[in-house]
Amino acid sequence: MRGVSGTLVGIAWDIWRAERGGPEGIARRQQARLAELVGFARSASPYYRHLYRDVPDDVADVRQLPPVGKRELMENFDDWVTDPHITLAKLKSELLSDLTQLGRSYRGQYLVVTTSGTTGEPAVLVHDRTSWVVVNLVVRIRERRTLVRRAEVRTFLRRGLRAAALVAGGGHFAGVVLTESARRRAPAIARRVRVFSVLRPLPELVAELNAFNPTILYGYPSAMTQLAAEQQAGRLRIRPVLAISSGENLSAAGRADIEASLGCRVTDRYLSSEVPALTSRCRLGSFHVNADWYILEPVDANYQPVPAGVTSHTVLVTHLVNRVQPIIRYDLGDRVTFAASPCLCGSPFPAVKIEGRAGDLVSFAAPDGRAVTVLPLALGTVIEETPGVRRFQAIRTGPRTLRLRLETEDGADREHVQTAVEERLGSFFADQGTATIDVEHSDEPPRADRSGKFRQVWSA
Ligand SMILES: [Zn+2]
Repeated sequence: MRGVSGTLVGIAWDIWRAERGGPEGIARRQQARLAELVGFARSASPYYRHLYRDVPDDVADVRQLPPVGKRELMENFDDWVTDPHITLAKLKSELLSDLTQLGRSYRGQYLVVTTSGTTGEPAVLVHDRTSWVVVNLVVRIRERRTLVRRAEVRTFLRRGLRAAALVAGGGHFAGVVLTESARRRAPAIARRVRVFSVLRPLPELVAELNAFNPTILYGYPSAMTQLAAEQQAGRLRIRPVLAISSGENLSAAGRADIEASLGCRVTDRYLSSEVPALTSRCRLGSFHVNADWYILEPVDANYQPVPAGVTSHTVLVTHLVNRVQPIIRYDLGDRVTFAASPCLCGSPFPAVKIEGRAGDLVSFAAPDGRAVTVLPLALGTVIEETPGVRRFQAIRTGPRTLRLRLETEDGADREHVQTAVEERLGSFFADQGTATIDVEHSDEPPRADRSGKFRQVWSA
């Protein structure tokens, strides 16, 4: 099967075979699916028909196509989608404004999610049935040995499977839509899986988790970090077997902290609402792009290709399956590095490292006024590793100013911690070659945004 109109078994078989066919087989699938997708988008999406008016009929290389961005797609939403029954206005009034509809399929066949909008306008994403079939099968087949380990399965059999989804309530975000959709399909799942909104007051969340006693946690790592602190303080008393983080970057320090406090393994996933099964994690911990179903192109700021081993400015993704809302060379905003040599696990799929989001890059002024770009992860680590800091947020408010929201450890002297952070930041900025940066301490505590994401470093 080359196309995407196959049966469940046909798709599963193809996912299995692609893994064994090597890079050539993957490239062949990619090309055949791309040609079909572009042909379909041209005939059924007025937006793409217009966009591709000067593109030759036969597209052999994805780079012949112009990139697209979230903003212009959302502005042309009704022309973008290929089912004329779907309009943004109807989606908003019939589904998105109603939280009792969470996880319900729209018009009996579509799953609809919205993104958080941390980098501007939220996107509304519509997935058709085949798109979800592929997602479910790819996860089951390609992560059959890595997502849950054999010893963990035995523990689940003994202690029961109870999964707590740590996601944001109050909107049709992917984590909650997927969980509720699974609950609607099967009563057995409904009893075992529960959504916990990370936007609720922490004491309530802790009390409910204690009562539910989950064996699996999944969702935002920032929420897990918060729970790790609660567990250390003795207020939270859960014994999860596995924590699956997604939706945000998980730092090595963050992972170690969660593992030590909650006493379970932490694994993470790299995917997005636009491309829900973009990568699978191998036994060595690398993310491999599922390149038979999704094309991921690392590019520079001018959308020119970036070679393996070099960190991209952003990435363009193409979803080779979803027909109702074609995603073709869509700017995802993530900065990634493709591995320059094959992963030792033997997978034919390219391995990729996630470095953060393009929108997160922060720049400060050098003494001569030039801009110096600073890696948010590095800046965050300097603050995070200062003794006494429990949580923080750093907001660049100007070329020479940084505002900090600090939460200190119990018993730590706040002023002392603030001074230590300032000193460490002073030498960090000096090393980076910036002018003197004024650090102002905010009275506000660190907090999550509306979607439940907890960003650590950004530009105001
Ligand atoms: Zn690997």
